[in-house]
Formats: sequence, C-alpha cells, structure tokens
Amino acid sequence: MTRTIVVGGGLAGCTTARYLAETGEDVTLVERKGIGAGASGRNGGWLLRRPDAWLNRRRAEAVAIYTELEAAGLDCGLREVPLLLVGLDESERTHAEAYASAVQASRVLPAEEPWLADDVEAAFFVDGCHSVEPMAATSAMAEAARRLGAELLSGEEVKRVAVDGDRVVGVVTDAGQIGADRVVVAAGPMVGPLLARAGVHVPTSVVRGWLIQTDPAPEPFPYVIEQAVWPDQRAMAAISSSPTLADVAAGESGGSRLISLLMGTRPGGSLVIGTSLNASLRDDPEGVSTTHEIAARAIRISPRLAGLRVVASWSGRRTMLPDGFPLVGKVPGIAGLEVAGGFSSVGMVTIPGVCRALARGESQLELDPARFVDSRRA
Ligand SMILES: Cc1cc2nc3c(=O)[nH]c(=O)nc-3n(C[C@H](O)[C@H](O)[C@H](O)COP(=O)(O)OP(=O)(O)OC[C@H]3O[C@@H](n4cnc5c(N)ncnc54)[C@H](O)[C@@H]3O)c2cc1C
Repeated sequence: MTRTIVVGGGLAGCTTARYLAETGEDVTLVERKGIGAGASGRNGGWLLRRPDAWLNRRRAEAVAIYTELEAAGLDCGLREVPLLLVGLDESERTHAEAYASAVQASRVLPAEEPWLADDVEAAFFVDGCHSVEPMAATSAMAEAARRLGAELLSGEEVKRVAVDGDRVVGVVTDAGQIGADRVVVAAGPMVGPLLARAGVHVPTSVVRGWLIQTDPAPEPFPYVIEQAVWPDQRAMAAISSSPTLADVAAGESGGSRLISLLMGTRPGGSLVIGTSLNASLRDDPEGVSTTHEIAARAIRISPRLAGLRVVASWSGRRTMLPDGFPLVGKVPGIAGLEVAGGFSSVGMVTIPGVCRALARGESQLELDPARFVDSRRA
C-alpha cells in the first residue's frame, strides 16, 4: 500500500487526505498548528456565482461536497444566500452590468433596498449563491478524512520534504523523518518555501486579506453585498505579484492594493465584512490600517450599519500564481512529490472539487505544475 503524507491541515490538505483515504491509501496529514489555522479557518466563506465558467463548475462541485458532508452529520454552516452586487459610480456600474449579464442577474432599484445608501448607482441580485462557515467546513472535511482512516497530526511542522535522488522518501519534522512514497504539499503560503527547500522554484506570491466581525444587524440582513470592483483571477494575479527589492527599499511591501466591500452574515447573525488585498511577506500582520478602509467602505454603502459594535478583526494570507489559477498535481522532476496550492481568494469554492480530482488521479491540465516548473533542481 502506498504511504502518503499530506502537508498542511487547511481545506486543501484535509480534502486531499479525505479522498485519498477513500481510495484506500495509508494517509497521514501533518499540520504545524491546528486544523484550519491558516486562511481556511479565517475567510469569508462565500461561494458566489461568478462570470468565469471554470469557477462556476468548481462552485457547483463544492456545494455538492459540502452538502454531502452535512448529510453525514458534519456541519459546514452551508446556506443559500443571494448576492446583491452594487456599483457606486460609472465604472462600477459597467463592471456590475457585465457581471450581471454573464450570470443572468436581475436588476433591482437601490432605493428599494433598505441596506443600501440612496446614491448607489446600480444594483443586481445574483441568486443561487451560498456561504459556509469556513472553520466548520474545514473541520468537517478533517473529520471526514479521520472517519475514513486518515491519521491527522497537529502541532507538527514539516521542516522539509525528504528527497533521495529524484524521488520523494518522506518528510522531516522535529520528531525525525517520516517515510512516505508520496508527499502532497498543501501548505498554503508555505508551498513556495517548502518546494524551494526541495530545490523546486514555483513563482508564488502571498497577499493578505482582512475581515471585520460585528454584532448582528438589528433587522434581517438577507444577502451578501458586494461592491463591483473585485477583479477576475488573471487581473487579481497581476496586482498580487510580490514586491521587488526596490519596492521594499521604498517601504512598499504592505500597503493596501485593493479594497472591495464584501459582507454578509454568519450563522447566529453576526456580520462579516471584508475584503482587501495587501502584499504580504511575513506571518505577522502588515497593513492593519486596512480595517479602517473596510469599515469606511461598509458605512459608505450601508450607512445604517454605522452603529454596529465591532467584536473582532483578523486577517489571512492567500497564495497566488502568476496566472491566478491553482497549482495542483505532480511536481516535475521528483517522483512522488505533488502540490495542491495557490487557491488565491477562491479556495472554499475550488478546493473541494480540485483536491478530490487530485486524490482520484484525474487529469487537470489547466492546473498542472509543469506550466511553471520545467523540471527540477539546479
Ligand atoms: C480574508 C480572506 C477572505 C477569503 N474569502 C474567501 C471566500 O469568501 N471564498 C473562498 O472561496 N475563498 C476565500 N478565501 C480564500 C481561501 O481562504 C483560501 O484559498 C483557502 O483557505 C486556501 O486553503 P489552503 O488549504 O490551500 O491553505 P491554508 O488554509 O493556508 O492551509 C495551509 C495549512 O498548512 C499549514 N502549514 C504551513 N506550513 C506548514 C509546514 N511546514 N508543516 C505543516 N503544516 C504547515 C498551515 O498551518 C495551514 O493550516 C479568502 C481568504 C482570505 C485571506
């Protein structure tokens, strides 16, 4: 029997472990902190219909997989919720109209929506969207993996992938080497550094996003509101590239590059409000002042929220590839080494289907690491 080690207990690692265990593989997942400690436990949890057909296919798979988890008694906080897409000015109106036409959204009059400012230019309802509670969904996937026999080790950091010649032989932790024939690196922002330690360069960049949580709104808040500015995957990748040495020398490593309002409720009624994109070079949060801009944007679009009490704010780090699409599959040049990373701002949408396909050995050429990695190792 093949012994596989999955590095990382985010949604990507847990999903990969769950579906590998289903194929009968002997799977051990190694997580340095706890399940969902990275972006997977700290994100918006929105599964929105987008103009991009690839994303919408993945979204449908994700909703089906979260539904299966819930049917097995593993709560993901899955709910259907419409998106209210709003434009504040002419350029956002154009963006919103193009989006709306791609997903057959219906126009609504902003003045008739109680949570919108009077001067919102355009608004559309996109139905058939969903949300999950991200930590619940990630823990549910971890539990599904455990039920199928996967071993999940928390508090154990993988220092490096162990390679002998041109094949993987395990991973090294503080407890020593754990032998394996196959290693899947699903370590979020650490995918690039861990592969680099195995001599493989992948051009990842990391961007931070911030969220704010408030008390429940005094009246029902029945949708997710999004400002029509968030770019598509390719455009997002373009503004997410890592800073140069000259940028860092000029002090430009953590400023906000994009703020877009995206807000909705969690089970229990509290509001989660985001979102943003800052270059991120370190674990410690940079760009803390981004939360001021997010709060101001929320009040600009929904003035009635101004009196709500803020109870928490946190950030998470997303990993990007230069074309905006994930890096999933076999790493060229090292037999037995695979990667599942680069899920950017859409991991809750894309990971369930993509990592299931990885575990089942299905071809996903558009995500193949070979598009960025020629072969191995200097
Ligand atoms: C603010 C914000 C909002 C977002 N909103 C949404 C949204 O609404 N919808 C959506 O679809 N997506 C959203 N995302 C994106 C989504 O959160 C990510 O794409 C997804 O969680 C990535 O999952 P992952 O498993 O690849 O990485 P992570 O969740 O980062 O997991 C990686 C794990 O690997 C562990 N690890 C790292 N290094 C090691 C090591 N050396 N040894 C062992 N373990 C290690 C980490 O501790 C971590 O637990 C958002 C992200 C952010 C930051």
